[in-house]
Amino acid sequence: MLANRGKTVEMGTRGPRWDRVQFAHFERALLARRVELDAQFGITQAELEGVRQARADASADDEHDPEGSTLSSDWSRIQGLEENISRQRLAIDAALQRIDDGSYGICVRCGKPVGIERLEARPASELCIVCARALE
Ligand SMILES: [Zn+2]
Repeated sequence: MLANRGKTVEMGTRGPRWDRVQFAHFERALLARRVELDAQFGITQAELEGVRQARADASADDEHDPEGSTLSSDWSRIQGLEENISRQRLAIDAALQRIDDGSYGICVRCGKPVGIERLEARPASELCIVCARALE
């Protein structure tokens, strides 16, 4: 407990001095977002399964070949969605980890505060707006 406090004070020199209430606020936002993403992930899984079955049906019947290409584009669209969700999920876990170790809200690239407004919009942001633009 005391060790944690010491660390927070040390971070305070280059990061925002946040109290527990602020951390708890973003932690809640991140956890809520994670629940949403898990639900979306479940939907993409079900959709992929649907396409997989439709594909199996289509390949069993050669006359359905034109439909096969539609299924392929469905497949890549849903898979892209799934990858996107996985990426966001990882970013959220990393942000929750940073809340734990007290480095949340500090840009991982330049060490400056990410900014409350940016975190409100994107709680999983690990970069300040300057670094995010520089890396684009
Ligand atoms: Zn930065």
